[in-house]
Amino acid sequence: MSLAQILSKIQTIKTESGHRDVPVKLIAVSKVQPIERVRKVLEDGYRIFGENKVQEAAGKWPALIEEFGPTELHLLGPLQSNKTRQAMELFDVIHSVDRLKIAKTIARIAVEIGKCPQLFIQVNTGDEPQKAGIAPDQLDAFIAECRVLELPIIGLMCIPPASEEPTFHFKMLAEMAKRNNLPELSMGMSGDFEEAVACGATHVRVGSAIFGDRDYS
Ligand SMILES: *Cc1c(COP(=O)(O)O)cnc(C)c1O
Repeated sequence: MSLAQILSKIQTIKTESGHRDVPVKLIAVSKVQPIERVRKVLEDGYRIFGENKVQEAAGKWPALIEEFGPTELHLLGPLQSNKTRQAMELFDVIHSVDRLKIAKTIARIAVEIGKCPQLFIQVNTGDEPQKAGIAPDQLDAFIAECRVLELPIIGLMCIPPASEEPTFHFKMLAEMAKRNNLPELSMGMSGDFEEAVACGATHVRVGSAIFGDRDYS
């Protein structure tokens, strides 16, 4: 699918599912993709991208931004303490806040550098041991702690278990966001962004459907 086709699909589903007035941001996930594919989307005028690793993003985006102008960058992957400052300098939005230690580090650096990206809390909706994210039963307490730290938390993010019906997880995330008065929902990838939009996603993170398969070899 082209990016334009995905944008149009999102509009259709929004209308059909009664979320017509919810703005949905399509994040083009450029991690691991050959640079020509990324440049093509930039040349088409698109300016909202997502990356998984701070190091990888730092290696390509400063030059691309220099060349193509301001570009909104979203960090989707796990954040390590020693990369936090670099991530906060480079990214406009971080989707993967998932523990108090990182929340405190972000709060401290925000004071030092005088700015802070907008933040999502990642929720491990399937309680999967190998997956990042805060457990659903600890979420409300964690949000309260982030609010004490005065962090700009705007919403919740999830990656549903690969083997399960994603809609169940998207609805759970929407419910948790609502009860905590958080307006934004980062959910849906290439395989399930349609279901996510139908459940009220405000940010969908789509990589391979736009750029083609990633080659990790
Ligand atoms: C890689 C990645 C995506 C995009 O995945 P696709 O299946 O290629 O659309 C979205 N979100 C996160 C957190 C990712 O790591």
